[in-house]
Amino acid sequence: MVEIETIYKKIDSFKNEIIEMERELTARPALGPINGGTGEHDKADFAKEQLLLLKPDNFLEIHAPDKNAANGYRPNIVATWNGAGQGKNIWILSHLDIVPPGDLSLWETDPYKMVVEGDKIIGRGVEDNQHGMVSSYFAVKSLIDLNLQSPGKINLAFVADEETGSRFGLEYLITEKKDMFSEDDLVIVPDGGNDEGTMIEIAEKSMLWLKFTVKGVQCHASTPEKGKNSLFAMARLILEMGKLKEKFNMKDPVFSPEASTFEPTKVEANVPNVNTIPGRDVFYLDCRILPEYKVDQVIEEATNISKKLATDLDLQIDIEAVHRQDAAPATSADSPVVNILSSAIERVTGLTAKPMGIGGGTVAAFFRDAGFPAAVWSTISPTAHQPNEYCSINNIITDAKIMATVFLNEENRE
Ligand SMILES: [Zn+2]
Repeated sequence: MVEIETIYKKIDSFKNEIIEMERELTARPALGPINGGTGEHDKADFAKEQLLLLKPDNFLEIHAPDKNAANGYRPNIVATWNGAGQGKNIWILSHLDIVPPGDLSLWETDPYKMVVEGDKIIGRGVEDNQHGMVSSYFAVKSLIDLNLQSPGKINLAFVADEETGSRFGLEYLITEKKDMFSEDDLVIVPDGGNDEGTMIEIAEKSMLWLKFTVKGVQCHASTPEKGKNSLFAMARLILEMGKLKEKFNMKDPVFSPEASTFEPTKVEANVPNVNTIPGRDVFYLDCRILPEYKVDQVIEEATNISKKLATDLDLQIDIEAVHRQDAAPATSADSPVVNILSSAIERVTGLTAKPMGIGGGTVAAFFRDAGFPAAVWSTISPTAHQPNEYCSINNIITDAKIMATVFLNEENRE
């Protein structure tokens, strides 16, 4: 048996190849139609070429039909190495697509020409989610180069459409190709985490965006008795919504923050001038609700509070859920994927990982909803979706070592 240190040294030796692969991927912008692009085809083709160099036992291309994309589809690819057939199926799922660079004047360099600065590489997509693609790729390559077999199957999936809803990506795979996955599989999504690499995300809060429209009567500011001031009512309503915090006050230490959150956020413009009392005001409340509560309970309570205030002030308040995502069932904190990943993190970095919950919105929810426990983890830099997005080369190397350790985990030998 090859010493684990030999594998880690091997991965260290890939540093230049890692940088070059990141450069090539960055040069192939993969934007979905909603983000003004044609899809992930160029990037998927390049990734396919690279994966085939590692001689997978199976290679699948799954085209999700999308009439707005080039060639009428969005590309998803899956490479599989069979291993010794004695352990669990391991999945590492990363996404091909990126978000647009945004305001180019905020970038110090060309977002699609990767730049290296010490340990940092800079460019759109280097972190989100090429970090995951590249680290999983070189984890597999270390095993191939050293002629090592994992106990179980290794699957690397590079999917489309994560940034605009996953309909043509993971959601498509799970609805159309559900047989590929099983409840016993170890599923890792390297697309979230913290800068130490110690956060294993296993649960999400439900997300609910409520829109409140307060309808009063507009009038001249000098004669308030002739109108009904919607701004005054909205201010009251915002304060009243504080009652949601009191009613839904349970704490769950898996999450940070531990309680549900109910935050007023966006306000729409009302009247253009100071001497008019507004008759219509709109604001939004961003709610992140612990999975212990039902989203409908929160909507009902917010509606009751609004109704009461509307009656008291004799005006109308409409409430609408403009976005809602009910939390998927959490992955258990002592599920095999969390245990194997935690021990690999400790083996490589000496740090103790912690299973945690977040405010919501990762692609792992599709796995969890379908009954496949998934862990979101990565040693991540905090600039995803921002100008001058960067990624640490060391973090890619560390994560590749952790993934290789997961692949070879002896507890995964049946
Ligand atoms: Zn991402």
